[in-house]
Amino acid sequence: MSPKKTIHLIAAARPNFMKIAPLYHALSREPWANPVIVHTGQHYDTNMSDAFFRDLLLPVPHYHLGIGSGTHAEQTGKVMIAYERLLNETRPDLVVVVGDVNSTLACTLATVKIRYADRPSGGGRRFPLPGNVNRAIRPLVAHLEAGLRSFDRSMPEEINRIATDTLADILWTPSADGNENLLWEGVSREKIERVGNIMIDSLEMMRPKIEKIRMAKQYGLEQGTYGLVTLHRPANVDEPAQLRAICTALEKITQTFPLVFPVHPRTRKQLEQNGYWQVLAQIPNLFLSEPLPYLQFMSLVFDSRLVITDSGGVQEETTYLGIPCLTLRENTERPITVSEGTNRLCTVETLLQHIAKATASKERRSRKPLLWDGHTADRVVASIQQVLLDAKEVMLD
Ligand code: UDP
Repeated sequence: MSPKKTIHLIAAARPNFMKIAPLYHALSREPWANPVIVHTGQHYDTNMSDAFFRDLLLPVPHYHLGIGSGTHAEQTGKVMIAYERLLNETRPDLVVVVGDVNSTLACTLATVKIRYADRPSGGGRRFPLPGNVNRAIRPLVAHLEAGLRSFDRSMPEEINRIATDTLADILWTPSADGNENLLWEGVSREKIERVGNIMIDSLEMMRPKIEKIRMAKQYGLEQGTYGLVTLHRPANVDEPAQLRAICTALEKITQTFPLVFPVHPRTRKQLEQNGYWQVLAQIPNLFLSEPLPYLQFMSLVFDSRLVITDSGGVQEETTYLGIPCLTLRENTERPITVSEGTNRLCTVETLLQHIAKATASKERRSRKPLLWDGHTADRVVASIQQVLLDAKEVMLD
């Protein structure tokens, strides 16, 4: 059998860690695979990064590019430069990028360009696009969580999604809308595979630990009696008028309904700069905290009555758990959470009405989307095996 196949798993920021963890663990069990974690360092605080490696039982990243914060162009450019060097040194067979952060696009760009450099005479003509996955080229790029679209190009994440999906060789989607979006954009059908939602694998993998923690008790709260809040999208927190309106709404809500609010560093900075942090900190029934590690956060989600958020991942986790989710956004790249799940888009003006409706109803509507079943990593491993190993090797395994 040929040497093990080296597979880079790119992790950059909080929402990435729960997407690479199940895949890392599944690949580690395969005799033919050498999974390598590359942390680009977009999130670097202990409670935005290290805590997740611990909670999700991941090893220390094999490589850390240490990029840190910066403008979008600075971050994307720095990751490309550093990752190109690593690609030259380590020559992986496959690069797996996840989600929609700047590193997702930067590592995709660095990879698809470096393999051209490997073939001085061939150039791009050898890799017709769109087309079948060319199993001979190295390294291949696969995008996990492909095809999601908010159709809102003012979101930096949307730009990262579109550009990554245009360039990647293998597109693993979480839901049917992902396949439809890609086909509509002209991507070849052969490159697309619906594998399900990998975040649900992390949730199920860690469920016994999550259920033991009972984090709400630490705030003196009972199961099903409080709301959980997460906010960090620029449209909500970088606009002082919107931030102020949100703070006022949160204060009103807490007059009858306790809220726990683990505050993202970007949001905290804006709250402090605008003088709202001290005001929020004094509101009874509003429990502010640092961003929480995965297990503690998920324990609060599990026991909540409802969630108020602008996070992508939280919309999915609440749909899976059947917990009402009020998303403070005009659109979502995860429409299945609205059509099949518990998610409702709302504005700061309609938030209170939505809360009254959600808390009045006893029903917990829960239709789990197809393939959100905790086995997405297994399907991804099978897909990788098919692309990287020839039929004889697969049979030997
Ligand atoms: N999360 C967490 N602690 C927190 C907030 C979020 O563990 O204090 C987890 C949660 O599982 C969520 C994920 O981080 O789904 C990603 O969250 P984030 O909102 O940062 O990113 P997005 O999904 O919006 O890209």
